[in-house]
Amino acid sequence: MAYKKIATEEAFATPELVEAWKVLIEDGAPGEAGLDHHFSRILNATGGWGAQVRDQVVDLGEVRLGIMDAAGVDMQVIAITAPGVQVFDAETGSALAVQANDVLAEAVRKHPDRFAGLGAIAPQAPKTAAKEMERAKGLGLKGVMVNSHTKGEYLDAASYRPILEAAEALDLPLYLHPRPAPPAMMAPMFERHLDGALWGFQTETAVHALRLIVTGVFDAFPRLRVVLGHLGEGVPFWLDRIDRLYARGRKGGAYPHWRATRRPSEYFLENFWLSSSGHNWDPAVRFVEEVVGEDRLMFAVDYPYDDSMEQTQQAAAIAVKNPEKFYERNARNLFDLA
Ligand code: MN
Repeated sequence: MAYKKIATEEAFATPELVEAWKVLIEDGAPGEAGLDHHFSRILNATGGWGAQVRDQVVDLGEVRLGIMDAAGVDMQVIAITAPGVQVFDAETGSALAVQANDVLAEAVRKHPDRFAGLGAIAPQAPKTAAKEMERAKGLGLKGVMVNSHTKGEYLDAASYRPILEAAEALDLPLYLHPRPAPPAMMAPMFERHLDGALWGFQTETAVHALRLIVTGVFDAFPRLRVVLGHLGEGVPFWLDRIDRLYARGRKGGAYPHWRATRRPSEYFLENFWLSSSGHNWDPAVRFVEEVVGEDRLMFAVDYPYDDSMEQTQQAAAIAVKNPEKFYERNARNLFDLA
């Protein structure tokens, strides 16, 4: 094959983080929704899919490499898994992020041809998070992972500016990944168990991305690069309608938070990169590639939540315009991989 296969949204957790989630859930996870429902079946599983995910997510060695080899994945871009450290108090979250970054950087040093990593931060301590981004870059990590909302708050809020400033100044792509929605958004989805990856995750993360866009974050930070998984969390499918309704709303002047000066699609097509994590479905991938162009869409598996063999096999059947870009070049360019 003329190109390598880089999977760009692959998850890991430290055993310490797994333990901290267990304790948080036992304590009732104040201010969080759905953690017990989503994660107990993984954290406490004694067999089946849950136990497999739990064992695979903490491994940064032979188990992971074996699955990559079997599936034909040459390299993983690895990041801290949902719900990340954002569910903890600022001090606990910041400390767990530092530890996760040290562990991940060490794994990358051991397997530089197979692993690249993104840094973890605790946005609930924005200035500390910005400093950790600088340290993570120094450790060789290639971006930063934020598992969507932080206690129901989003990165367009003024208090998070240090994080956006640091991402732009350090030239670190900011990966926005789903996690269980805040309580108010969770309730009607939870009633029918539609709050997870089947539907709710993408809804909440798409809202996060659109909040950044309409509030003018990319006017303030024009070089900020944001990555969305799951084929852009549905946003590409909506772009035309979003543009028209945004233009109409702006003209009416009824929505003071709509401060972005350009059409939402312009930011989406300039500041965003997408991965195909868990969505290597032929018509959807080709549609998204048509909308965002062949330079912004990257292959991903969503290991260990999705099956590496299944996702690579599905992806292999897709007639992407330029497989070398989809599998390798776009990831190398975005994450500055050697
Ligand atoms: Mn994922």
